[in-house]
Amino acid sequence: MEKEIRVRFAPSPTGPLHLGGVRTALYNYLFARKHGGKMILRIEDTDQTRFYPGAEEYIVESLTWCGIQFDEGVHVGGPDAPYRQSERKEMYRQYADMLVEKGHAYYAFDTSEELDEIRERMKAAGNSAWQYNHITRVNMKNSLTLPADEVKRRLESGEPYVIRIKIPRNEEVKLHDLIRGVVVVNTNNLDDKVLFKSDGMPTYHLANVVDDYLMRISHVIRGEEWLPSAPLHVLLYKYLGWEDVMPEFAHLPLILKPDGNGKLSKRDGDRLGFPVFPLEWKDPFTGEISSGYRESGWFPEAVVNLVALLGWHPADNQEVFSMEELIQAFSLDRVSKSGAKFDVDKARWFNQYYLRQKSNEELADLVAPFFEKDGITVDKEKLVRVVSAVKERAVFPMDIYKDAGYFFVRPKSLDMDQLRKKWKEDTATHIQRLAEIYESLDTFEPYVIESTTKHYLEENHLSVGAIMPVIRIFLTGSLVGPVVFDIASILGKEETIDRLRTGVSIAKQLLS
Ligand code: GLU
Repeated sequence: MEKEIRVRFAPSPTGPLHLGGVRTALYNYLFARKHGGKMILRIEDTDQTRFYPGAEEYIVESLTWCGIQFDEGVHVGGPDAPYRQSERKEMYRQYADMLVEKGHAYYAFDTSEELDEIRERMKAAGNSAWQYNHITRVNMKNSLTLPADEVKRRLESGEPYVIRIKIPRNEEVKLHDLIRGVVVVNTNNLDDKVLFKSDGMPTYHLANVVDDYLMRISHVIRGEEWLPSAPLHVLLYKYLGWEDVMPEFAHLPLILKPDGNGKLSKRDGDRLGFPVFPLEWKDPFTGEISSGYRESGWFPEAVVNLVALLGWHPADNQEVFSMEELIQAFSLDRVSKSGAKFDVDKARWFNQYYLRQKSNEELADLVAPFFEKDGITVDKEKLVRVVSAVKERAVFPMDIYKDAGYFFVRPKSLDMDQLRKKWKEDTATHIQRLAEIYESLDTFEPYVIESTTKHYLEENHLSVGAIMPVIRIFLTGSLVGPVVFDIASILGKEETIDRLRTGVSIAKQLLS
């Protein structure tokens, strides 16, 4: 029987989800869907000191916004519930005990003060990387060095202790990573990590392996920062007797900053003006607000598309992918080993692409709130026309709002420098005559305004460049914007004539 595909996204709720976390979740999701498997959300909250209130809700909301769905998990339940490790607390102890019994783990009584002191001492002596390992453990206070009756006495008297893995000396641990190929690590480079803490909680390593086993996880797809932990996890599978059901591993490359080297950080985002978090995040302790893709006007389709291509590339040159297309095209063997640079321009290109896919009605609904915030009530039908006229240059819905203010409120000022360049003795007369002609029009459709205006210009031997820029400035305040006839038509006959007449009187006052 073929192995059932079961993957999990297993974040620790220690803050907001970074773009890298979104990508890990996405690749797991694509992999699960592609192979008809199951996708699980497990919250790894065994480190109570790093707990952030609101982080779990944030993770769920972010992934939901991205369209990443789970078959099982904290928020949807499932056959292996609970999916929050703090609620599974009771399950882990037996495995730590099993390891002690088999001689693969031991009790250690060294207090954190004692460990700090050793570290300080070693640092002063020039060794800043002291570790509790196969060499140093023989000098420490643990069940390998203390007499059995003393160990028993300490345990029975309730003295605090931790359980550490007993890493063997000089053995090769081999694992096959689906992205990196064979990874071999000598155990002399590993330390005796704590598996079970004095507060009765397992550490990440033990809980992670036990839960992957209990939840029958077939593939562990996670960030590269976990690669150094993988040999320890492989040893745990072996010592717990689960080697034959050990999941396959795939460690994803880092997401790198757009410029220079190193991992993409929130600081890069702040510096270069893009968010690194899917949703806005307010730090519950400091109150600091970090911007989010959603609140900054990004479309989830764009975020998913750009994140998908950070580390994975399709067989052809296709760039735009819907979620369905990603599911079809995705495979782990097209994930690269080397880091993927975040490209801000490319990211914006994706958002622009998806903005252009939206109907004018949809965009109008997204833009209307900006005007409402300014206390401007906008007519939906008019806004739809405005959107269609100005959306060409927009990357975000916000850009449409910024470019379209003059459609709803008269420009506060006119570009006098440009006006001066165009203003001739007879300009005022022509504009006034055009306003009169407009008054007589029955319909004010762009093509009607255009043919009427052009006819007037020809009759009076005027070039387009002599009059149209002036009309544009009077209607919008500046020289940028969509086609003038479209603008006039959207403004409507009365408003257009009014703005032209007001413009003439301002120009006369200021320019003559
Ligand atoms: N809890 C780990 C994290 O926060 C999970 C690592 C893994 O997927 O094994 O990323």
